[in-house]
Amino acid sequence: MNARFMTTSKTLVCDISCQIDEELKEDSLCSLSLAGAMPRIIWMANPDGSINYYNRAWFEHTGFTREQMQGAGWTAALHPNDLQCYSRVSSEGIRTGSPYQVEYRLKWGSDHSYRWHLSRAFPIKDESGKVTKWIGTCTDIDVQKKRKAVSEERLRAAIDITADAICLLDYASMRFVDCNDTACRMFGYSRDELLALGPSDIGAGSQSDLEAVYEEIIDGKSEPAVESQLLRRNGSAFPVEVQRKAMRSGNDWIMVLVARDITERKEAESRLQKLAYYDQLTGLPNRRMFYESLNGAIVQAEKQHLTISVVLINLDRFKEVNDLLGFSAGDELVRQIGHRLINALRLRDLVGRLGGDDFGLILFNSEHSQGAEIVANKVLRLLHQPFDLDGHEVSMTLSMGVAVYPTDATDADTLIKNADSAMHAAKLAGGNAFRFHTAEMNADMLAKRALQDALNKALINEEFVLHYQPKIQIDTGKWKSVEALLRWNRPGHGLVSPAFFIPALEETGLIMPIGEWVIRTACRQLREWDQSGMEPIKIAINVSAEQFLDENLTSYFASAIKENGIDSTFLEIEITESSLMADAKKTVEVLQELKMLGVRISIDDFGTGYSSLAYLRKFPIDKLKIDIAFIRDVTTNASDAAITTAIINMAHSLNMKVIAEGVETREQLEFLRARKCDEFQGYYFSKPLPAVELEKLQKKALLELSQ
Ligand code: C2E
Ligand code: MG
Ligand code: MG
Repeated sequence: MNARFMTTSKTLVCDISCQIDEELKEDSLCSLSLAGAMPRIIWMANPDGSINYYNRAWFEHTGFTREQMQGAGWTAALHPNDLQCYSRVSSEGIRTGSPYQVEYRLKWGSDHSYRWHLSRAFPIKDESGKVTKWIGTCTDIDVQKKRKAVSEERLRAAIDITADAICLLDYASMRFVDCNDTACRMFGYSRDELLALGPSDIGAGSQSDLEAVYEEIIDGKSEPAVESQLLRRNGSAFPVEVQRKAMRSGNDWIMVLVARDITERKEAESRLQKLAYYDQLTGLPNRRMFYESLNGAIVQAEKQHLTISVVLINLDRFKEVNDLLGFSAGDELVRQIGHRLINALRLRDLVGRLGGDDFGLILFNSEHSQGAEIVANKVLRLLHQPFDLDGHEVSMTLSMGVAVYPTDATDADTLIKNADSAMHAAKLAGGNAFRFHTAEMNADMLAKRALQDALNKALINEEFVLHYQPKIQIDTGKWKSVEALLRWNRPGHGLVSPAFFIPALEETGLIMPIGEWVIRTACRQLREWDQSGMEPIKIAINVSAEQFLDENLTSYFASAIKENGIDSTFLEIEITESSLMADAKKTVEVLQELKMLGVRISIDDFGTGYSSLAYLRKFPIDKLKIDIAFIRDVTTNASDAAITTAIINMAHSLNMKVIAEGVETREQLEFLRARKCDEFQGYYFSKPLPAVELEKLQKKALLELSQ
C-alpha cells in the first residue's frame, strides 16, 4: 500500500496522480493512465472498501495532498453532515456487493468551500462472483443540486402557504418525516413535535387502518378524497377531507397525507340541512324530515319484521291561545309542547312538527296498537298539564290519529293519510282523544263526502225546514218565545238532526248560505205569524262560530228584518260560549252591531266551554242558557245541582236572564223554580215542532186559558 509509482510511460500518469497498491496488475496500468487523465474524479478500492487509488482530478479539485489521503483520511474532505449518510450507504453496498450511489458535499479547492458530488461505486467481480475491487466515479453536481435546492425552497414555501395540511409519513416507521406549516397550525404542534408523532396521534388511523389504505394506493390507484375527522393537540376533533398517496423514496415508501379543514363547509352544510329538515321554532324534524324518516323506518321495519305506529297530533282550539294571548304565546306553547313530546317518547322514537299545531310521532316496534295506545294516553296526560305562557296558565287538549305499519298500510303516504283521517275522527268526536285507523274509517270518510254532496244539493232542493221549540216562563207558565232548530228532510232518511250535519256544514263553509237561509226563514215566519193574528212570539236563532267570521252576518239580519218589516226586538241569537271566545275582539264588534240592530243575545250551552267572567261582563249579553248536560241529572247529582245554582245566581248578579234547556221531568222543573230560574225549554213541555204544529199548540194554550 501507498508505494510510489514508477517506471514506464504509464508511470508518469501514476506518479503524479495516484496512490496505488503494489498488487495492481500490469493490465490495470493502461486503464489507470486513462483514469488519471480523466477530468472527472475516479477512485478504486479494495473489496472491503478501503480506497487504494485516486486519479489526478481528485487532488486537483479537492486540494488535498497524498499524505492527507492516507487510510480513511479522505473522509475529512466530506461535509460533516453527510458523513453518516455516506457510511450507511457505502457499508450497505459493500456488504451486499451491489452498486451504490450517494450524494455528499466535498471540500473544494483551497478556500475550503464545499461542492455537491454524486459518487457512484461499481463492484468488479471474479468468475465466482466475489468482489475483487470497487471502481467509483465522483461527479460534480453542485450546480444542479443548488438549482434543485432553490426550486425545492420555492416549492417548500408554496407548500407551506397552502391551506391544506401536508404530512409525509414514513410507512416503515409509521412516523411523520415532514410536514408543512399549515399542518403545524392545523394540529397545534411545532414542526419538531409533529415529526415525533405518528398518524394515530392526530386521529389519522391506526397502523392497521393505514395498512389497508396503503395496500390500495400502493397499487397505483389514486384514492378519492374521503371525509373524516382529525384531532388537534387539545384533543378536539374537526372535520377534514383527506387524500392519501404512496410514493417511493429510495428503498422506503412514503405516504403523503393531504388534509383540508372543512369545518366551515360542514357548518354551512349543517345550517342548510337544519333549514331544510328542521323546524325553526321547535328544532324538531319538519314535515320533509318526518316523511323521509318514516320511509327509512319502513325499510328497517320490513327487514326486521317490526311494527311502526304513525301518530298525528293536532291541538284542540290552538287558535284561541293565539287570539287571546298573542302569537308569541302561541309560539311558546308550540315550543313547550315539542319539549313535552320529546320527553314522553323513547330515544328511538321520533317527534316532528309538521306545521302550525300539527305534530307527528313515529313509534318503533309498538306491539301493534298496544304500544301506541300507551304512548297516546301518556301524551294526552302530559299535554293536559297546564303550560305557563308568560304568567298565563293554559291547559290544552289534543286530537290524535294512529295508523300502524304494516296492518293499516305499508307505505309512508298511506300511513300518514290514514293517521290523518283517524285524527280527524278524534276531532269530530269532540277532541281530547285518539282514534286508530280502521278499515271502517275509510268507509266513514266516503260517507262524509257523500253527506257533504247531499248537503250541497239540499239547499237548492229546499230540503231544509225549521222547527220551533217553546221557551216557557217558569213563574207564569206562559211561553212567548221559541228557538228555531234546523231540520233536514233528507230524501230516504226522514228528518235529520242538526247535531249530525252541522259539523259537516261548518267544515265545508256551507254553514254560511244555510245560516243565511235560517235567518231569512225565521224572519219570514215572524211576519207570517204576525199577519195571521197569532199572539206575538219571539224567535231565537242559533249562530255558529264560523258565521261570526262572516263579515256580512249583521247585514243578513238587517236586510231580513227590513224585507219582512218585522220588529227586530223579536229576534234573538244563541251563540255558544266557545264561539264567543274563538275571536273575542271580533265577537264583541259583531255582538255590538247586532245589539244596535235591536237583536237580543244569549249564550248557548253555558258551562261547558271556556268561561271568562271578565269577557262575560264585556259582551252585551242578555241571557245565559244552562247546558243540557247539567240539567240531565240536576236532581240526583250534587255537583250538577251546585253548578246550575251557581249559574242562575251569577246570571242574576250580572243582570242577565237565565234559561235551562233539556228539561224533561217535573222534578227538574221544580228544582229550577226553587232556584228562581227564569225560563225552561224541553220535552217536558214540548219537543221542537213544525210551524203549523206550534200554531196549534198556541191556539190550544189560549183556549185552555180562556176556559
Ligand atoms: P242547541 O242550540 O243547544 O239546541 C238544543 C238541542 O236540544 C236541540 O237539538 C233540541 O232539539 C234538543 N232538546 C230540546 N229539549 C230537549 C230535551 O228535553 N231533551 C233532549 N234530550 N234534548 C232536547 P237539535 O235540534 O238536534 O239541535 C242540536 C244543535 O244543533 C243545537 O243545539 C244547535 O247548536 C245546533 N243547531 C240547530 N239548529 C241550528 C241552526 O239553525 N244553526 C246553527 N248554527 N246551529 C243549529
Ligand atoms: Mg240553541
Ligand atoms: Mg244548547
